[in-house]
This record gives sequence, structure tokens and C-alpha cells, in this order.
Amino acid sequence: MSEPQPATVSAHSELDLSAIRVVLVHTSHSGNIGAAARAMKTMGLSDLALVSPNDFPSDEAYARSSGAQDVLDNAQIVESLDDAIAECGLVVGASARSRSLPWPMLDPRQLADRVADHPAGSKIALLFGREKSGLTNEELARCHYHVNIPANPDYSSLNLAQAVQVLAYELRMRALVNEPRPAGPWGVDWDQPPARADQLEGLFQAWEKTLVEVDFLDPTNPRTLMNKVRRLILRAQPDEVEANILRGFLTQVDKSLRKR
Ligand code: SAH
Repeated sequence: MSEPQPATVSAHSELDLSAIRVVLVHTSHSGNIGAAARAMKTMGLSDLALVSPNDFPSDEAYARSSGAQDVLDNAQIVESLDDAIAECGLVVGASARSRSLPWPMLDPRQLADRVADHPAGSKIALLFGREKSGLTNEELARCHYHVNIPANPDYSSLNLAQAVQVLAYELRMRALVNEPRPAGPWGVDWDQPPARADQLEGLFQAWEKTLVEVDFLDPTNPRTLMNKVRRLILRAQPDEVEANILRGFLTQVDKSLRKR
């Protein structure tokens, strides 16, 4: 008879590399897109989304991809980041710099643990920013976590495709080992899927509307309130039902305000 499994070890399938979508945001150099596709394919990743690339499709991208043309051929090209991540239940932004508002941070190995712990069937987005300026604060505020490659503090910015390579390598290493699942937020089998990015975005808009209506948020002087609300809710990683409860509650608040 097999040993009973400890309760914190989930019965989820192995880390599923096909659930991971690499999202390159406003990439300037098409060569970097090709090199990123190559980095992905060497590590067994294939889902690439490009948000308003400057120059794609391009010969340079295909030249730099070597044998990874299929990743480029199948790349999804979208106008907005929201389109690229809509169906994802975990969104992580790769960032070389620390930002003014602290956010839950992972290193690449911790990222791999989080991904291994993520419920099967829910997609995961990894966001990579522009070569010159990285990800904007608004883009980073869509993420459950930020991931930082702990590079030389005096020279910490990797080439875009090399950053993709480092994260993809750690994910592959985690997929190859058969360790027990870490007991993260989803350490046990859950009854509901994680809320998707598009549902969370709708929820944040509902919060903002209600906070304005009850005069808690001054739209002429919003400061960082909405980012703090986002951070709180993203940190809790609500599932779909929990997100719907919050959304339904806010709708009801708006309705009763109008009745008065
Ligand atoms: N000059 C930009 C860095 C751009 S590098 C800046 O200061 O933000 C392009 C992208 O590669 C970054 O947006 C990030 O997604 C990724 N990247 C580069 N270095 C990284 C690091 N040390 N840790 C995590 N991501 C990194």
C-alpha cells in the first residue's frame, strides 16, 4: 500500500510548462523577440504573446530565433497588455529595478515554486518590459508578484532575451525534479480556479467607482490608493467565486446609494 500523502502536498499535476505564457511588452528590437523565442524553446516553453511590438514579423526576429520559428509563427500579437493576460490566473512581472511601492517579490527559484504550486488548468503570464525603460508602474500593478534576477547591483539589467532564458531555465529545472509541492497559497487542491486577470481588472474598476461614489477616493487626487487596493487583493489571490462576491457586494453598494 502506498504511504498517505501529507495534506499540504497537492495532487496537482507536475509543473506544466505549457501553462506558461511569455509576454513581451512593447519590445523595440525584433532581434530580441527572436532570441527570446529561442530561449523559450530550449527550455520547453512555447506560448509567446507580443504586446504592440515595434517591428514584427521581421527577418531579424526569424534570423535570431535559429530553430525556434514555430514559436514566432504561433506568437499571439495583441494591442494591449490586458488582452495578453486576460485568461491568466497568475501574473508575474520581471523587473530589474525595485519600485517606489513595494510589491511581493520573488527570485527566479521562488517563482518556479509558485508556478509549481499553481492550480492545473489556470494559465500563468510572465511579463517582460521594454529594453529602454522596462515595465511601467501601471503594468507592474497588474501583477501578483514581481520577479527579480538578483544580478550585480551596480549593473543589474540583463538583455531581454537573457532574462527570459534565466527564468525559463529555473522553471525547467523545477519541472524536471519531482519534489513535493511547496505549501504556498494554493498548497492544497482548491475547489475553485484562481480569478483571471480580466475578472480582477473588472473588480478593480468596480472598487474605484464605488470608492469615488462614497467620497473615499478623490479622483482629482488619487495618490496611491488604488495601487494599494490592487496590491491587497492581488496578495490574497482570490479565486473566481471570491472575486465575484466582492464584485457583487460593490454592485449592491452602488445600487443602494442610488436608491437614497
Ligand atoms: N532598462 C530597463 C531594463 C530593461 S531590460 C529598466 O531599467 O527597467 C528588459 C526587460 O528584461 C526588463 O523589463 C525585465 O522584464 C527583464 N530584466 C532585465 N534584467 C532583469 C533582472 N535583473 N531581473 C528581472 N528582470 C530583468
